[in-house]
Amino acid sequence: MGKLIPLSVPNFEGNEKKYVNDAIDQGWVSTGGAYITRLEQGIAKFLRTEAVAACQSGTAALHLSLVEAGVKPGDVVLVPPLTFIAAVNPVKYQFAIPVFIDCDDSFCMDPGKLHQFCEEECMFKDEVLMHKGHVVKALVVVHVFGNMADMEAIMETAHKYNLKVIEDATEALGTYYTEGKYKGKYAGTIGDFGCFSFNGNKIITTGGGGAVTANSSETVNHLRFLSTQAKTDAYYYIHDEVGYNYRMTNLQAALGVAQMEELPEFIRRKQTNYNRYKDEFEGFGYGTLMPFREGTNSNQWFYSINIDRVHIGASMREIITALEKDGIQTRAIWGLVNEQKPYEGEETYQLEKAPYYADRILNIPSSTQITKEEITYVADKVKRLLGSLVKNG
Ligand SMILES: *Cc1c(COP(=O)(O)O)cnc(C)c1O
Repeated sequence: MGKLIPLSVPNFEGNEKKYVNDAIDQGWVSTGGAYITRLEQGIAKFLRTEAVAACQSGTAALHLSLVEAGVKPGDVVLVPPLTFIAAVNPVKYQFAIPVFIDCDDSFCMDPGKLHQFCEEECMFKDEVLMHKGHVVKALVVVHVFGNMADMEAIMETAHKYNLKVIEDATEALGTYYTEGKYKGKYAGTIGDFGCFSFNGNKIITTGGGGAVTANSSETVNHLRFLSTQAKTDAYYYIHDEVGYNYRMTNLQAALGVAQMEELPEFIRRKQTNYNRYKDEFEGFGYGTLMPFREGTNSNQWFYSINIDRVHIGASMREIITALEKDGIQTRAIWGLVNEQKPYEGEETYQLEKAPYYADRILNIPSSTQITKEEITYVADKVKRLLGSLVKNG
């Protein structure tokens, strides 16, 4: 094939250049300007939520959410082990304590284990959940790869134990429930806070950027206030709270407005391509394409092959290197956050599925521009490679 088929690259087929040039022509390139408001309103309308605050990154959105949730030094925040580390780092920014709760087969937080942890490892007294002398203040649930966590069960536990719920929907912009209690609700609009990322490989990109929503426009206004240095009076530099420089710029927002126009088409393509891969891997014995949760319409952002570890012992590194030689960029799912240096020694709770999947999930090319022929080529090479790696006897 010659050229590399990338894992995930941005797509600029729309009004990106037009809007970015317009922002420059108007001289509005920094943290003020009409594109920021337009992007915020566009995302809010899309998500059917009251208000959205645009910010510098998904990480900034997560950090602001923890601040707004009142997470203080020494509080416990329940987090996932199998995720991009940015979902967990803001817990450390707040000098809070992460406790890692296992995932289920959607790679998202296991609601059963979450409930069991609260029930058996904590004390609930005067409406406060305590764990080893620390207040359990919040949980961060990540909607991994565009999947949706089991929000009905998670919210039930959160309500029961008075926990703030921060949805890391950075990968799941556009995913919504089609059934159940939350039918019609989008990822990021169910918990207390919903965080989105527009980094280069996400379903839409602003280069770098993010957004945060919450369940009232007053809260979103306060999040926006915190993101703009908490200016109580901009003229006379009065600040009554500690703020952050987390606001999105108008240049980024110009890109974002163009990308939002294309989002429905991007989702359609992700779904079409997922179904093509599904046909290609149908009946293949040594690796299966992981499904997305039933009862949801997923944005199907990232595709995962579950490698059959009974028959294939090769390391992820060997597999990824071999595919790269065929011009195919793939990646292993993340290393567990609790095993990274800054998190060694932090408490984990019944981790079984997370290490299981960490050892066998391979992500395959998922860009919106990938062609039908490239999908067939990728699937063919992946199947051949895995077939050739099957252990003898
Ligand atoms: C991308 C991502 C983030 C961070 O977003 P940035 O915009 O890169 O800061 C956080 N959590 C998850 C799960 C992500 O995939």
